[in-house]
Amino acid sequence: MPQAVQHDIAVVDNDLCDSCGLCMPLCPPEAIHMTRRGLVVDATTCTGCEKCIAPCPVGALAMTDARR
Ligand code: SF4
Ligand code: SF4
Repeated sequence: MPQAVQHDIAVVDNDLCDSCGLCMPLCPPEAIHMTRRGLVVDATTCTGCEKCIAPCPVGALAMTDARR
């Protein structure tokens, strides 16, 4: 059985994100990646530290319960 993620993870609302890149260097495990389709948080790398949430100027990052 795959190990379940036991904490919330960050998710990006790409309708809000303007790809400014501000959040990427703020993420300690470097879980935030820029792709051709917009920003993506790697759910298996995200530690749920929430350091990326408040700094986003447009509020595009939010925490979600990965256990659901
Ligand atoms: S919650 Fe923490 S680990 Fe997850 S993407 Fe944001 S800064 Fe990175
Ligand atoms: S800080 Fe916000 S707007 Fe900028 S790249 Fe990150 S999620 Fe997108």
